[in-house]
Amino acid sequence: MKLFTVGPVQMFDETLDIASKQLPYFRDQEFSNMMLLMEKELKMLLHLKQGKVVFLTGSGSAAMESVVACCFQSHHKVLIINGGSFGDRFVKLCACYHIPYDEIKVPFPQAFSEDMLKNIDGTQYDALLVNIHETSTGQLYPIDVLSAFAKKHGLYFIVDAISSFLSDPFDMERYGIDCAILSSQKALACGPGISMLAFTDTFYEKMIEPKDDTCMYLSIKTHVENMKRGQTPNTPAVGILLELAQRIHQINICGVDQVLLDTKKKAMYFRKQVQELPVNIPKYPLSHTLTPIILPDHNAEEVYQYLKDKANIYVTPNGGELKYKMLRIGHLGNLCLEDYDILLRYLKEALA
Ligand SMILES: *Cc1c(COP(=O)(O)O)cnc(C)c1O
Repeated sequence: MKLFTVGPVQMFDETLDIASKQLPYFRDQEFSNMMLLMEKELKMLLHLKQGKVVFLTGSGSAAMESVVACCFQSHHKVLIINGGSFGDRFVKLCACYHIPYDEIKVPFPQAFSEDMLKNIDGTQYDALLVNIHETSTGQLYPIDVLSAFAKKHGLYFIVDAISSFLSDPFDMERYGIDCAILSSQKALACGPGISMLAFTDTFYEKMIEPKDDTCMYLSIKTHVENMKRGQTPNTPAVGILLELAQRIHQINICGVDQVLLDTKKKAMYFRKQVQELPVNIPKYPLSHTLTPIILPDHNAEEVYQYLKDKANIYVTPNGGELKYKMLRIGHLGNLCLEDYDILLRYLKEALA
């Protein structure tokens, strides 16, 4: 089985090793030390100097929910970039927690442009929320433009980087990111079940500490309190934390640039070769995480099924309107260029 998906992805042998072992008990010093080291190493990868990380047990959406629930109140107002199903998730969460919001819609297949911000009065908002890579379409938004807008109007800049971190350059300090949202099963290539929030101390003191909890399990404050000693309030997904600690340590050793380069190479290789097939790649800017391909003459669902039945290859199908038109080819995890040769061969057959 080969996964050209975006999460879970093809895992590395070291991760599979860990996943096959007996889980340890976690309320002890060894586990705490592992958590504290992982926090420190993750902060280095994110370029977060004065800040904290919390590890939530739940998929990426849990961390998105935690941010909306724990940082904002009904007298706040947030601006959301909504260009697909993950942007829409922020919108639904704000509605759910009664947080006033406006959204900037980016209709498929339009590219986000600076013009979309031109008529927006930024001063009426407290924060800008964006999924920097909108995974449902593959569009990568311009972080410099959004960062400058947030800075200009004094907005907190909240970035869901779940499917961009480790694929595209990410730097919390450089872009003034106050809170970043991450998850275990995308480029980190671990099992699903842990999501992370990384935020500056200032953001914590100004936005999180003063707010009374409106949720319990996803309370950031409770997680921060526990994390002071390297612990979590409830039993976490212990196994996934072990996988993550190893991966984050490994990436710190080999360097984040190496991971970025590997992913970019796979993306560029695939994008070049696939041009010989009857598919179109949308014109908007892309993350290195995945390549969206539009199939003008074929049913995408049937192509997905063909690859699965014929070669045990899994690409990423789309939901909604794009279900029959688009497939997404992932470039994350333990894949090499030869894997793409095989994929392209079967894809060619499927599109013959
Ligand atoms: C995968 C992903 C999430 C989280 O989705 P879950 O299914 O809850 O893990 C959130 N945002 C983006 C941009 C994603 O790609």
